[in-house]
Amino acid sequence: MPAARVLIDGPSELVFDYAIPDGLNVQPGCRVRIPLRNKLSQGTVLDLVEQQDDLGFALRPLHSLSDPEPLITANLLKAGRWIAGYYGCSIESVIRALLPEAVRTEDNSAKVRKTVILDNDPPPDILAKLQKRAPKQAAILSLLAHAPDRKLALADLGDGSSASVKSLAKQELVRLIDEEVRRDPEADGIEEILPDSPLPLNDEQEAALRVILESLNSPPSAPSSPPPILLHGVTGSGKTEVYLQATRATLDLGKTVLVLVPEISLTPQTVRRFRARFAGIQEQVAVLHSNLSQGERFDEWHRIRKGIARIVIGARSAVFAPLPDLGLILVDEEHENTYKQDQIPRYHGRDVAVLRASLENCTVVLGSATPSLESFQNTLEEKYKIVRLAKRADGQSLPLIRVLDMRLEKQKQKGGMAILSDRLRNALEQRLLKNEQSILFLNRRGFARSLQCPSCGHVCMCPHCSVPLTYHRDDERLMCHICGHQAIVPRKCPECRDPAIALQGYGTQKVEEILAKVIPSAKIARIDADAMRKKHALRDLLNAFQARKIDVLIGTQMIAKGLHFPNVTLVGILNADIGLHVPDFRAGERVFQLLTQVAGRAGRGDLEGEVIVQTFTPHSPSIQFARHHDFDGFAEQELEFRRQFAFPPFAHCAVLTSRSTHERRAEFTLQTLHRRLTEDPPPGLVIGEPLPSPLVKTHGQFRFQLMLRSAKARPMTRHVQQVLQKTTLPEDVTVVFDMDAWSFT
Ligand code: ADP
Ligand code: ZN
Repeated sequence: MPAARVLIDGPSELVFDYAIPDGLNVQPGCRVRIPLRNKLSQGTVLDLVEQQDDLGFALRPLHSLSDPEPLITANLLKAGRWIAGYYGCSIESVIRALLPEAVRTEDNSAKVRKTVILDNDPPPDILAKLQKRAPKQAAILSLLAHAPDRKLALADLGDGSSASVKSLAKQELVRLIDEEVRRDPEADGIEEILPDSPLPLNDEQEAALRVILESLNSPPSAPSSPPPILLHGVTGSGKTEVYLQATRATLDLGKTVLVLVPEISLTPQTVRRFRARFAGIQEQVAVLHSNLSQGERFDEWHRIRKGIARIVIGARSAVFAPLPDLGLILVDEEHENTYKQDQIPRYHGRDVAVLRASLENCTVVLGSATPSLESFQNTLEEKYKIVRLAKRADGQSLPLIRVLDMRLEKQKQKGGMAILSDRLRNALEQRLLKNEQSILFLNRRGFARSLQCPSCGHVCMCPHCSVPLTYHRDDERLMCHICGHQAIVPRKCPECRDPAIALQGYGTQKVEEILAKVIPSAKIARIDADAMRKKHALRDLLNAFQARKIDVLIGTQMIAKGLHFPNVTLVGILNADIGLHVPDFRAGERVFQLLTQVAGRAGRGDLEGEVIVQTFTPHSPSIQFARHHDFDGFAEQELEFRRQFAFPPFAHCAVLTSRSTHERRAEFTLQTLHRRLTEDPPPGLVIGEPLPSPLVKTHGQFRFQLMLRSAKARPMTRHVQQVLQKTTLPEDVTVVFDMDAWSFT
């Protein structure tokens, strides 16, 4: 007799075996009710296990199934096991990611409403009789006859109709049922979508689509799943059009499509284009926003599972969407670091997408103008196929990129802050005259905008985290962007009492201020996390920009992604260097990606685009290769460096971090772990020294870290797991293992 191994809901990750009562079809992935202590709890069946005879006691039987079918498909459960093993986390934590909270809690269950349906017209004689003796019933019949689908909610029939409806139902003239109603996230009609139709593809797009279709049509009996396809298309090359037509082809095969984007709120145009293209079957498109209510999430999840929603668009966690008959997974902007989850389970959405595609035997397309070196190296090793779109779809050439040496500018401006070069200012003025639009991009990495005293150099720091506080002009406050600590702006330097304490770094607000001064006639708007706190603020602003009500848009990383505005002919990058000088082997790759992506916002219409890059290090390879739109050149040089120093993609890189409010204990714990890790390591594992993290202190906790590298992933994860299991940690120390780490601060 097999027993069910059940993970109990709740924070304590309990797993117990239960006997399966006769006649109950229990499978892995099923949700069940089980007795626990004196009450009924809920849980998920992880596995069916052989019941041991020599237990000495009988297993308690499970109570019932919460849902007749398994909520986690066999393939997703397999993916879950892989994630647990690969990233070194518990299967419990993965199940939590697979089954969203909204689905696990029973109180979100489907909303029903009493509905009256008229299947057949009543016989005329009966109708005549009702009209005389029960006019109310006759009126209801007439209302129903004219209602859409000849059905109405009981509530809509007005007070006191219930008796009449019951009487009609008794005479079998109408049916009264409990109908499930969808809590539709789009019900408040956020915006009207104009349907569009497919564009005739150019040769490159045609070739790319053909490769995807070949993969889609590869026989299901093939010995292995089709290889992932890397779609490397320069900005504006029409990747989205290829996605859309591949999606249509997949639907036509009777299969479903999963579209992953870095972040829903930052890719409104991609989402809108999917909605527009599939406007005729709107109810088949599910968009998994982070701001769905629990009820909406529950309904969307079940619509997906039942195969009603056939296209799912979402960020990282949507990779677990329970689509049946999955035919195609699209990962847009596959290089984005938002695909990596920074909480347990620390999976990478793109990598799980590739895994899932292999389990489901479906096609996966990774698209980007700046592919990650991990994916690109996979094409060089022929594990992935590559298809390229080298030209812009509208026939325009890529924008001209000029690099401006700000060291010279700084000399010219004599000690000023050198924020806006003359060159860039002139270019902005020209655009204004021609009625064209500009985007100014400010790189925010590196904690700029701090408050520093010009006399003694004192910087206002967060008392809980080892970072400078950020100056916010709107409410004249200093704020820590890590823990949220707030302080008032000092009138004098706390150190030397000089009242001249001034802005050291600068932010989008400062740029806006300067711009308003030098080009007073320009209409300027700013997009950054502060300005966008209000709901819909981002969407409204982008709409205004689209409608050309704004001349210059100033923004941070938020505007680097897939925006498409045909009237933008100038992009200025104010501080290209920030981000180059951080302790992260991907720093150069990030700067290259960012510059390429931002530059790609220029010249996307009939007008030619220009990009001006202000930098203090004009000869840095990231800047020079980006300037020449030379991805291959950049990749070749960067891969050489990675190979030499055994960094990804030539090794897996993991970070082990210890943290505690007690500095010595955090350090000591990591040193102990380091010693144990080096005792009997698997071959090829390179173990770094335990060091303070670049951000030593956050949220009042001290952090220490060491880096591990290995060509083989599994032995590294296993080794770390074994050492962690053998080590008892002091109570106030937390240790985190981050496999394939993307953040080193
Ligand atoms: P990407 O996603 O690669 O940055 P987009 O899909 O946004 O590029 O395409 C850029 C522009 O080119 C869009 O306005 C799109 O409508 C247009 N476009 C795409 N494919 C074609 C085509 N085959 N013919 C004409 N215009 C196209
Ligand atoms: Zn802080």
